[in-house]
Amino acid sequence: MEKVSVVVKIHAPRLLIATHNKGKLGEYMDILSEGRFELLTLDEVGIVEDVPETGSTFLENATLKAVAYARQAILYTLADDSGLEVDALGGRPGVLTARYGGPGLSATDRYRLLLDALADVPDGQRGARFRCVTVLGGPDGAILGTAEGVCEGVIAAAPCGDGGFGYDPIFYVPEYGLTMAQLPAAVKHRISHRGRAVQDIRPLLERLWPPST
Ligand code: IMP
Repeated sequence: MEKVSVVVKIHAPRLLIATHNKGKLGEYMDILSEGRFELLTLDEVGIVEDVPETGSTFLENATLKAVAYARQAILYTLADDSGLEVDALGGRPGVLTARYGGPGLSATDRYRLLLDALADVPDGQRGARFRCVTVLGGPDGAILGTAEGVCEGVIAAAPCGDGGFGYDPIFYVPEYGLTMAQLPAAVKHRISHRGRAVQDIRPLLERLWPPST
């Protein structure tokens, strides 16, 4: 009798990461991948229109994005919202971090504006934190879990380093004596607000897709 061999190819679970930002995707890949998950960006699933971030908290915005993108793509979706809370500014820019200074500015323009706003703030009063809230949406738009991560630091007097993205060059991490933009990527991804939020939600992903799947 002729032998027939059947090859069953097991695909890694597909997870949409609700971003167009390559820097963010790199962080998710570092923290989640190891081949366990196939991470897709919005561009890769053909979503070009952004969900407006109309919420007044990180959780509201991350939830809006997780629900809308998961339904559009019919995929499990991780969406986050993050930003910088500066003590001397009463926690601003917070949810408005991406839009700080108004439309049409580059990331460098925005962090320079922030440095100007803190020009008279002495050392010792320049505390700040990055905060990230991540929400996992199911393909039907159900909210399956949420997680939050915080990274404490200090707004530097001047930018330093060319790694990372966004406000990294002015975010000094006292524990390492370096700005986020100077830290090796693997270190940033481990200690960052996003890194911590994703590590926090990872057990839920492992429960959804146990390692044998
Ligand atoms: P969103 O979460 O994509 O809305 O980002 C909010 C804003 O915070 C953007 O302006 C980002 O540049 C900034 N941001 C978020 N995470 C980081 C980070 O890890 N490093 C530097 N800037 C960040």
